[in-house]
Amino acid sequence: MLNSNMFKLLTLISLILLSASCERSEAKRVSSFTTQPIIPVKEVYKAKVVQVKRGQGLYQALKSVSIDNSMALTIINALRDEVEFSKLKVGDKLEAVFNQNKELVEFSLAQNPAEKHVVRLNRNTGKWDYHLREEETHWNARILEGELRSGSTLIEDLLARGLAPSVANEIINVLLCKVNFRMNARMGDRYKVLLNERKHNEETIQTKILYTSYSGERAGTHEAFFYEDEEKSSTYTAHYTERGQALIRSGLRYPLSSLHVRSGYGWRRHPVTGRRAMHRGVDLRGRRGRPVHAVAAGKVILSTYNKYAGNKVAIRHRDGSTSYYLHLNKRGVNKGDWVRTYQVIGTVGSTGRVTGPHLHFGFKKPNGRWMNPLSKRMIATPRLTGKRFLKLKEQIAQTKALLIDLEVSKKAKYILADIPNIEKDIEKARENKYLFSL
Ligand SMILES: [Zn+2]
Repeated sequence: MLNSNMFKLLTLISLILLSASCERSEAKRVSSFTTQPIIPVKEVYKAKVVQVKRGQGLYQALKSVSIDNSMALTIINALRDEVEFSKLKVGDKLEAVFNQNKELVEFSLAQNPAEKHVVRLNRNTGKWDYHLREEETHWNARILEGELRSGSTLIEDLLARGLAPSVANEIINVLLCKVNFRMNARMGDRYKVLLNERKHNEETIQTKILYTSYSGERAGTHEAFFYEDEEKSSTYTAHYTERGQALIRSGLRYPLSSLHVRSGYGWRRHPVTGRRAMHRGVDLRGRRGRPVHAVAAGKVILSTYNKYAGNKVAIRHRDGSTSYYLHLNKRGVNKGDWVRTYQVIGTVGSTGRVTGPHLHFGFKKPNGRWMNPLSKRMIATPRLTGKRFLKLKEQIAQTKALLIDLEVSKKAKYILADIPNIEKDIEKARENKYLFSL
């Protein structure tokens, strides 16, 4: 009797376990990027997935998922406004889906585990439709602070504490505007950063440095606040002092108010001719009619039209370098004119041999050699003013409130048994001279 009951019980348990594990694998399949079945089940499709390898260019990467050069061009054009291919990096995931006739029907690119850019062939229109498949992520704020130890530099310290090199470099670049580390960094100098990290599962896929401070006897005390502009990929999104001074060391301004690279500097397959050619500049996305600004003061040495460059302006700057602006809709300056920094010299257009409106922006060093203009650090403005300055003030207030919250919750862990003191701690945090001086 007992044995048969035990058997029944065991069978029941194993059934429950089985069904539970089925459910789990089912749930997993649904949650991985797919909200709807992409493709009708009846037909036979074949998917190829690869990760970008070191030293692999975009065309090589596409070739490794069996996408030939002419198809690559179509895909790149379909994704151009959404993806910055110049930022393609090792480990990015490419996926190509083919039908039984070995025709490409869907392509996707994932540059982090939570976001997938997808283009799918629309049979009715014959065009490639774009959509973004997103997984759930959350933002998590934390304070990272410390003291310079003997024989250690700030960058070494930040890397040792697990920050990604790009994040550590951003912190250093902000502070370099204010602190001469070589001369004035000393053992015992204190630093503090407020990081807002976007997490997918436990992995950090994006980091915003909301607040940076450095304080030392010789270096003095310096603070920087992150300002995020309303416009996507705005060049105003950067680090500023509380008074709105930009913390980028540069004499150059951006030629557009927002920056999205459609095509980077260097060897590429030309979007119109399909031939391999050196791209001596960068193509920046811009709506037709958007103002184009002189990146620095100088003399207009060229203001002409030709069938390849379209409307073209070139400006020679004081140090002998030259900036080039191509495919303009309208030219606002003439040869021989002197222009101020950030003066409007024309508008974004699609004149010349192009596939759509954009600004081709080129830069020649004083020695006459072409260089990647984006390897120059540029600045949207030396100082935020007007509406943007008010927004900065708002964002600084939020950042400060977040810092206080985190400070208090850190302390609260230790004084949980001593609740009446928490209020005192909040007061103390508010008065904290180190935090909010300047
Ligand atoms: Zn170009």
